[in-house]
Amino acid sequence: MASQLMNTGSSVVEAVAKARASFRSGRTRAVSWRRSQLEALKRLLKQEESAIFEALWADLRKPRLEGYLTEVGFVIKEIDDALRHLDGWMKPERKHTSLLAQPGRSWTTHDPLGVVLIIGTWNYPVQLLLAPLAGALAGGNAAALKPSEIASHTSALMADLLPRHLDPEAVAVIQGGADETQALLDERFDMIFFTGGGRVGQVVLEKAAKHLTPVVLELGGKSPCLVDRDASLEVAARRIAWGRFSNAGQTCVAPDYVLVHEAVELELLAHLRAAVTAFYGDDPRTSPDYCRIVNDRNFERLSKLLHDGEVICGGQADAKERYIAPTVLRGVSPDAPVMRDEIFGPILPVLAVPSMDAAIEFVTDRPSPLALYVFSNVEATQQKVIDRTSSGNACINDVLMHMVVPELPFGGVGESGMGRYHGRWSFETFTHRKGVLARSIHLDLPVRYPPYSDGHLALLKLID
Ligand code: NAD
Repeated sequence: MASQLMNTGSSVVEAVAKARASFRSGRTRAVSWRRSQLEALKRLLKQEESAIFEALWADLRKPRLEGYLTEVGFVIKEIDDALRHLDGWMKPERKHTSLLAQPGRSWTTHDPLGVVLIIGTWNYPVQLLLAPLAGALAGGNAAALKPSEIASHTSALMADLLPRHLDPEAVAVIQGGADETQALLDERFDMIFFTGGGRVGQVVLEKAAKHLTPVVLELGGKSPCLVDRDASLEVAARRIAWGRFSNAGQTCVAPDYVLVHEAVELELLAHLRAAVTAFYGDDPRTSPDYCRIVNDRNFERLSKLLHDGEVICGGQADAKERYIAPTVLRGVSPDAPVMRDEIFGPILPVLAVPSMDAAIEFVTDRPSPLALYVFSNVEATQQKVIDRTSSGNACINDVLMHMVVPELPFGGVGESGMGRYHGRWSFETFTHRKGVLARSIHLDLPVRYPPYSDGHLALLKLID
């Protein structure tokens, strides 16, 4: 069965062939199929909420509130948005028809792509698998899903639940790690939607090139957070601490580091420390609201970064529990290891800068991040930062919250990825916008037909 753990090439081939046959049958194109699948997915999320929370706890010790806000509830909102707007999205759009193509009518329509491959990652193992799936279903596609083996409980649960709730021929779940993903990537898909790190993103692109398959890459990067001297520092600190430390910092759009105006550095640090204590108490290890690091490899990587600066709060690590305390560092060198790669854990370096211009320069000297945050109460400063920097998304006076606005496209730019989704953008991503011209068979102007003449050319210039 497509839902079982797969480690043989032949079962991957079989699952993809079934999905392809389902798409070819034409049934996934029908609006009734799309709606029924979206409704079934929503039912799954509601009925199986407890099992999902348990799996998320087992994988990441994710609290139920975060499990709802960033996983189950998030996907339900995406589904509701698609159900509400699907008829409108699917409606052909009338376009102006140029004189040369008259008499005729022009429009665009959204074609399903076919069979899409969705490769998820482990930090939001429900959201990052099922939010793209909602877009794929709304677009009328069949899909093969590859959850991350690192979030193994959630992966197994998805492989069990999805075929029971959804059309099992059209939606296949293939479990496994690098080998199974490579086997899948050898197959021909009509689109690959990948969420994960840049290194595997390169593998995906190389494999996709063989079949000229279009690819969406949802990657990561070091998302900066700029705090100016006029910002509301207490609110800024609370929001930054929440964005950095929820899910124990294992969030692609978490603020990775802070560039704060030197005049307010100490005040911001004091507020950050206070926010951490207010959220997780004096010993965050005992807080039921604080996650753990997903595996030993990431724990070891993060433990080495804990003392790359002066520790303002946190700094503790416990390998047995894979616990890394919410840690704020100051006086960090821009060349320190913690400033080299995306941290992807609960460590927040705070670097003082003499001005927002210096902060902008710091950001533009580095690859385009997935998100950029600016805290300032001066509109001109906010605008200057937005206008002079490049990032997948940006958010003013908050972090992460741009994700909950389905009208906003979500995705990276440059090294943080290519392509976008959420809301209508998912529908656009998982369909091909086809332009159609319908000509009348009456009035067949001879101007374009040979033998050509100067008269034809003059007429052509007139009507073109
Ligand atoms: P990863 O890139 O190692 O894994 C992602 C997927 O690729 C998994 O399903 C895995 O099984 C598969 N995979 C792993 N090695 C492979 C290989 N050699 N060949 C083929 N497939 C392979 O995931 P990661 O690096 O641990 O994820 C963290 C990264 O993901 C961070 O950079 C983070 O910012 C990014 N991320 C981005 C988003 C987003 O929405 N843009 C969301 C979450 C995470």
